[in-house]
Amino acid sequence: RRLASNTSFKAADLQYRFTRHPHAKPENPDECLFGKNFTDHMLAIKWDKDRGWSSPVIKPLENISLHPATSVFHYATELFEGMKAYRTVDNRIALFRPLENMKRMNRTATRACLPTFDEEELMKCIGELVRVDQEWVPYSTKASLYIRPTMIGTEPSLGVNISNSALLYCITCPVGPYFTTGTFNPVSLMADPRFVRAAKGGVGAYKLGSNYGPTIGIQEEALKRGCQQVLWLAGEDHKVTEVGTMNVFIYWINEQGEKELATMPLDEGIVLPGVTRSSLMELGRTWGEFKVVEKIITMNDVIKALNENRLLEMFGAGTACVVCPISRILYMEQDLSIPTMENGPDVASRFYQELTDIQYGRVSHEWSHTV
Ligand code: PMP
Repeated sequence: RRLASNTSFKAADLQYRFTRHPHAKPENPDECLFGKNFTDHMLAIKWDKDRGWSSPVIKPLENISLHPATSVFHYATELFEGMKAYRTVDNRIALFRPLENMKRMNRTATRACLPTFDEEELMKCIGELVRVDQEWVPYSTKASLYIRPTMIGTEPSLGVNISNSALLYCITCPVGPYFTTGTFNPVSLMADPRFVRAAKGGVGAYKLGSNYGPTIGIQEEALKRGCQQVLWLAGEDHKVTEVGTMNVFIYWINEQGEKELATMPLDEGIVLPGVTRSSLMELGRTWGEFKVVEKIITMNDVIKALNENRLLEMFGAGTACVVCPISRILYMEQDLSIPTMENGPDVASRFYQELTDIQYGRVSHEWSHTV
């Protein structure tokens, strides 16, 4: 796409305006609900076609005022990322593989015809935002600071065109533990092939806001049917693609009798390339105890494996909960009981332990990035 001369903002140009009215921090971060409490500051960076990027600013969290015709309100020219800052056991503040989120954000921006930027520079700006609000990073190895980088098209025009101006901003919020009891709570899933999250040729592989709004009603349908989340199926063969906003993993004995960890491949472009997904595959490969593959698994494969006692564990994987065990799938009038918890879950628990050890600095690892 055309780029103005100024192809990226620089963290070195950051301007700071600090709040004079700091908010009270939540008393118990371990009880913070997701996305409800925000820190004192935000990062904001404007872009327009003629001048390119302006200097990044860290300023008090404030409302955004936009013309009612603005592109984002009509055509959902919006994208976002989701990542976390952790307070480590030695009291540093660390991000987990932040450059991976920056790369995914740029890929989404390209698809959305929104401006791209230097990934290292946005990572440094976000690092600075977290440092400014560092007291908001929970003093807890159960909680963390959720980071929400966002970009919107801001041109006040009703044309379905490339937006000539954009705003990149980042807000943060302390979040409590996903598993409040400290141990895994397995989830039940509604798998109904009439509902589709993403199709081949579509945009499911990008973190566009427009992928998420339409899922809310289906999630409600799952709750009505007594399930906690949606298992997203795709195609005539009912491929198992994602769980809610997580990638999905199956640990089983495959038809050749080998222990195998499998997840949906990326080449159809219908699943989000999760940072947790790629981390679990890499970790699993370093253990060297089972095969790690990206391959298509259909609901028929799941049912066959269940009937032959080959299915060991199924779990979702994402930033929110690291891994989330699956205990039940409601599929075409069948109530399938998934024996994840009965099998330990050995693999899911080990992934959870190893990843959280890295995130909270109990072990040192190149995936942990101190700010
Ligand atoms: N799939 C979808 C649809 C998601 O929204 C997310 C959350 N970003 C994931 C998978 C997991 O990605 P990650 O591991 O990067 O959080």
